[in-house]
Amino acid sequence: MSARQGMSRCDKEETVRKAFAELREMVNGCMQCGTCSAGCPNVHSMDISPRAMWRKVVSGQLEEVLASKTYALCSSCYTCTVRCPRGISVTEGMSALKRLSSACGTREQNRKTGFYRVFVDNIRRNGRVRETGLMTEYFMEMKDPLLPLQFAPLGMRMMVAGKIHPLAASHYKGKGKLALMFAKVAEMEKLP
Ligand code: SF4
Ligand code: SF4
Repeated sequence: MSARQGMSRCDKEETVRKAFAELREMVNGCMQCGTCSAGCPNVHSMDISPRAMWRKVVSGQLEEVLASKTYALCSSCYTCTVRCPRGISVTEGMSALKRLSSACGTREQNRKTGFYRVFVDNIRRNGRVRETGLMTEYFMEMKDPLLPLQFAPLGMRMMVAGKIHPLAASHYKGKGKLALMFAKVAEMEKLP
């Protein structure tokens, strides 16, 4: 399926088309050497290797790329970016795919990036991860009534082990260096 067809269901079509074109431009110099895949610590769990991903991007297979779980499994370790002989910012490419999926993905694709959104927002508001709030927000974001049941046994085990404290208050005021850092990233990423 062409990139154009893949975007047809999205109401942000123009934004997505532009973002995908920029990504294609970014990885256009890929010579398919496989160095990024060879050094990736998460490649064993990916359904499409980073090398194969860039080939699909260059050939415009947006729908197939977004349907993959590869970009959601990228932990932004930057190993690939440091090692790429063509100087391609592979990690930034994976981040671009996360943003594309978030803007224009199907419900299933959004599940992959939804956790990232909620996780980062949780840190921005609390100054650190607050696990109980995080999972509640994740369940609300996913709008899946069965999801809490799936995680309930794990939550109970963590509570018994003293790993989560549902009633602990956050004293973070949303100011200081962390707030400045979030503002800078939003500026760099042109986030709304
Ligand atoms: S390391 Fe760079 S050139 Fe080699 S396959 Fe990966 S992106 Fe392409
Ligand atoms: S930045 Fe992502 S794709 Fe690159 S090596 Fe690390 S986990 Fe793999």
